Amino acid sequence: MSKELRKDILKRLKRVVIKVGSGVISDHESGRAPMERGLSQKRIRSYARRIRAIIDSGYEVILVSSGAVMAGRERLNLQRPNLDIPEKQACAAIGQSSLIRSYERWFEKQDLKVAQILLGHDDLENRKRYLNARHTMEALLEYGVIPIVNENDTVTVDEIKIGDNDTLSANVACMAEAQLLILLSDVEGLYTADPSKAGNKSAPAELISHVDRVTPEIERIAGKSKNPLAVGGMYTKVLAAKKTMSFGIPTIIINGLKGENLKKVFAGSNIGTLFWSGETKIKDRKHWIAHTLKPAGSIKVDGGAGKALVERGKSLLAAGVVNVDGKFEFGAAVRILDEKGKEIARGLVNYNSRDLDQIKGLKTADVRSLVGANFYEEVIHRDDLVLV
Ligand code: GLU
Repeated sequence: MSKELRKDILKRLKRVVIKVGSGVISDHESGRAPMERGLSQKRIRSYARRIRAIIDSGYEVILVSSGAVMAGRERLNLQRPNLDIPEKQACAAIGQSSLIRSYERWFEKQDLKVAQILLGHDDLENRKRYLNARHTMEALLEYGVIPIVNENDTVTVDEIKIGDNDTLSANVACMAEAQLLILLSDVEGLYTADPSKAGNKSAPAELISHVDRVTPEIERIAGKSKNPLAVGGMYTKVLAAKKTMSFGIPTIIINGLKGENLKKVFAGSNIGTLFWSGETKIKDRKHWIAHTLKPAGSIKVDGGAGKALVERGKSLLAAGVVNVDGKFEFGAAVRILDEKGKEIARGLVNYNSRDLDQIKGLKTADVRSLVGANFYEEVIHRDDLVLV
């Protein structure tokens, strides 16, 4: 079953989010204690090569990388386990630039460009910021650039943090509508028991190769983190997988310390733990658009546009808009009405009501010259639209 699912994933795969944990890019080989470790240039170089190969196979890659606090600790020589918030933020600030510099250095050698994206809790919660982040990511990918995402640790304190990069990477996978999230861990995947405690021969820990639903039992098995460098651990990975699964996106946890494992995922091998039921519908997000958000206005469309939306699964373009009702901002949820005023869809709009009123009925080229820098090809992108 798992093998077929993995083949299915590869068949549909266009965009993958790969999360690299601090442990995976730390210099294990130095033999230093975890709190003393820094970035391993060797490992980042090796990932650059692996990712080059993935891109050469035709996939788009977004990286979510931890390691800022670790790199900063090393540079500031701060080895105490419990840093206070300003110390952690200082580490993140100094370490983030080292982190990106290292990525830039090794990816450049593979002829790949990278870009830094720092996200905070607000960027995920606030629709405008969410859409902005999403558009930036799309633009980068279009230019063949690899976005390297981390939490904006420098300006966020614990209470308002996303908190760990497993959760962040799940959010990024949903935001970018990736078809796969790969979490690189320092263990093979999810075990039936903690392998570090599995000296007990009567109940040896076994790797679980497939989880089709994250039950309370699975969450319990995942337990809490043991690795002092890791913020999350298996528990947050399982919760991340639960989130992506509810958005129809599979997650695979593999041991990232073995570089060849990444290649194996793309060869369809039965490696690590796959979390997926085979369900690809983006249930939650569409549900959120259709039912959670309060529409701030409505857009009436002509017959052709209505048909294109309902029958052909197209995005809404300015040319098809005949009337704009209500006052709304970029990113608001709006109703889409057919010629007779009947609601046919809801979606998140890329123009505010003033601009939209100006561009309604215009061809894309005219819209572009009228709105300039605020131009979006779609008034509402298909991915942000739900038929009702
Ligand atoms: N954002 C943190 C860092 O770059 C790591 C968070 C995590 O590993 O989950 O150090």
